[in-house]
Amino acid sequence: MTKNAEIIAVGSEMLTPQRLDTNSLLVTEHLNLLGVEVVMKQVIGDDLERLTAAIRTAVARSAILIVIGGLGPTQDDLTREATAAALNRKLVLSLEQESILITRFRQINRPMARNNIKQAYLIEGAEAMPNPHGTAPGQFLSTSCGAVALLPGPPRELKPMVEHELIPRLRPVLPRHVIRVRTFRITGIGESDLDTLIAPVYTKYTNPTTTVLSSPGDLSVHLRARAGSVSEADALLREVGNPIAELLADRVYSENADESLEMVVGRLLRKHRATVSTAESCTGGTIAARLTERGGSSDFFTAGYVTYTNREKQEVLGVSRELIERHTAVSEPVAAAMAEGARRRSGTTYALSATGYAGPEGGTDFDPVGTVYLGVSGPGGTRVVRVRYGRDRDRVRLLATQGALDLLRKTLLKG
Ligand code: ATP
Ligand code: MG
Repeated sequence: MTKNAEIIAVGSEMLTPQRLDTNSLLVTEHLNLLGVEVVMKQVIGDDLERLTAAIRTAVARSAILIVIGGLGPTQDDLTREATAAALNRKLVLSLEQESILITRFRQINRPMARNNIKQAYLIEGAEAMPNPHGTAPGQFLSTSCGAVALLPGPPRELKPMVEHELIPRLRPVLPRHVIRVRTFRITGIGESDLDTLIAPVYTKYTNPTTTVLSSPGDLSVHLRARAGSVSEADALLREVGNPIAELLADRVYSENADESLEMVVGRLLRKHRATVSTAESCTGGTIAARLTERGGSSDFFTAGYVTYTNREKQEVLGVSRELIERHTAVSEPVAAAMAEGARRRSGTTYALSATGYAGPEGGTDFDPVGTVYLGVSGPGGTRVVRVRYGRDRDRVRLLATQGALDLLRKTLLKG
């Protein structure tokens, strides 16, 4: 039997727009490494009844419950009381914790306020988890099917306690299970098209679980397999992941969750010992910005020309005036001439170009707002693609930037 976990973050401040429950992310990461899946997470204000009810429900439903925060000395720190009530256990004064508290206050040379003694109370049967960075100890209680743990809210107290106290206590309670993850980072397809394409594969399986994360122009598919051993989990990831990879084909730009599109492009350029320059209009330099985001990009990037006006396209990139007059600046021939001009001027192996109508004004009947021509010029010739990205200016610019980088990536894969 695998064990599931729930997390309750306690504190009214985390129900305001100013504060975010980040502690649970750290706890989740550690639980996952133990093969424990977090199946539910709640944020609850400083309210004894709500908290008690939530803890009672959580322990009935999940083997492991982690409660974060509300272990301080003040009136609104209610986690100890609520947990004791939910589990029908008493709170008992621990003389050991009391003396640790007294010693600690002596060390920091502060009088101990009377309400601090609250922090020396443990839930009947619980073990204290030392807190070298604060006054409230954590608590760990083994139950018949799992465990309940109380952790302090301040991240600098919580983090070491999770690593040094919680995880070593949880490990023996758990069956040996591992979670392995496989990630596909994808561009050049919309979220619903992606789902239509791969759902027939992944919906047949509950293990691994599949999640799709989406931001404009950039999607990722995450497979998480749970099994008794690394090799079993990896076999599950292959069984589901390989057909997905086949369906997605070259739309997958990386299987490394931390590798962005520009990192992949940089890696491929280095591998080919190739260089790149950019000729940008509607993207305003963002393609160059992405290519130079990381240190060491001077290995492959030489120059970015932002040529917004027709005059600059002519003077900087050598696009002919007749060409612009005949086809307009937003056209396939001009995108090609821009890329060729940048490549010639900078002497690079490749050059990228973008010219389009980012909006909100402009556009023609044939090329309405959102139309962008993306060009790539290289040893194998020049290629231009025409794309339509809708009417939102920020989105058009972002997708055009992403599209241009992807065009170079695909060109490099072929070359
Ligand atoms: P204290 O002794 O400081 O009162 P505590 O265990 O009672 O500790 P809380 O009062 O709940 O903890 O939280 C103290 C501070 O820690 C909060 O103001 C908040 O900044 C931070 N904090 C608490 N819970 C979380 C959380 N889940 N994620 C991120 N930060 C948190
Ligand atoms: Mg507090």
